[in-house]
Amino acid sequence: MAPRVMTVSGPIPPDRVGFTLPHEHTGISLWHIAGRWDYWELTPDEPTLVGELGDFRRRGGSTLVDLTLDGVGRDPDRLRRLAARSGVQLVMGCGWYRGAYYPAESQVDRRSVDELAAELVAEFRDGVRETGVHPGIIGEIGTDKPWVSATEERVHRAAARASLATGMAISTHSVMSPVGLAQLRLFEEEGVDPGRVVIGHVDSYPVLDHYLAILDRGANLQFDFIGHRFGTEEAAEPRLVELIVELLERGYGTQLLLSQDVCHNSQLRANGGFGYAYLQQHFLPTLRTAAVAEGEIAQMTIDNPRRILTVE
Ligand SMILES: [Zn+2]
Repeated sequence: MAPRVMTVSGPIPPDRVGFTLPHEHTGISLWHIAGRWDYWELTPDEPTLVGELGDFRRRGGSTLVDLTLDGVGRDPDRLRRLAARSGVQLVMGCGWYRGAYYPAESQVDRRSVDELAAELVAEFRDGVRETGVHPGIIGEIGTDKPWVSATEERVHRAAARASLATGMAISTHSVMSPVGLAQLRLFEEEGVDPGRVVIGHVDSYPVLDHYLAILDRGANLQFDFIGHRFGTEEAAEPRLVELIVELLERGYGTQLLLSQDVCHNSQLRANGGFGYAYLQQHFLPTLRTAAVAEGEIAQMTIDNPRRILTVE
């Protein structure tokens, strides 16, 4: 079969993938875990989301990857409706998010690595349940803590085996620690090409040596909390720009991706936020002011996500 990108509306030729947000949500609930107050939820209200996605598209947006998984709100039918109504090409993730959010019915602790991998391969081949909607990427695959727990290791290995069997890339959740390197090590042990791995949320751990360790193994780095206002992100943005410029100057432009991880109602334009357009409206102009070239921006926002989403 020819190389293709699997959207929720079916496969498309990779050259139809333009400006892309590679780590987003269009409906996610994170508040059902005890002690969790920070993210609450992004309510999947479809008329509102169609407007938010339409705004992204009017500003030149083409494709958006929804990495919401079972247990926190994945809904293939909703994604297909949102794509049809907004005109944005949506790509859906698959797998299991992180320990605290594994749904009981997924039986991660009870099933083997190969059984879990087989479920993802079946989704890739046949679609999710009876929906006919196929995933186009594995993720977001994460850890609760700065280490990989035993059950999380099982999921990471299953993601790796499913990636090898299908060609889908793997996108991770790794926050405020060097745990992304531990994730990468597991994928490598299973034989995955690091070029098919995206270590996500790396802006939450702004350490140049950590970035270089991941990039020098050939994996991709994703800065995807851009525009968040839940904590110190706004104050940290100038440093983030410096780090991205530094990595571009060192020649790593083909391995960097940018996204916004919209996951909370307050981020929607309808509620006074930036919607899915913070990159287009605010962050990319800031990069241009920092002398980042148009070609480098196109690489990070078009070429790299297109390559990651392409299944050979
Ligand atoms: Zn996310």
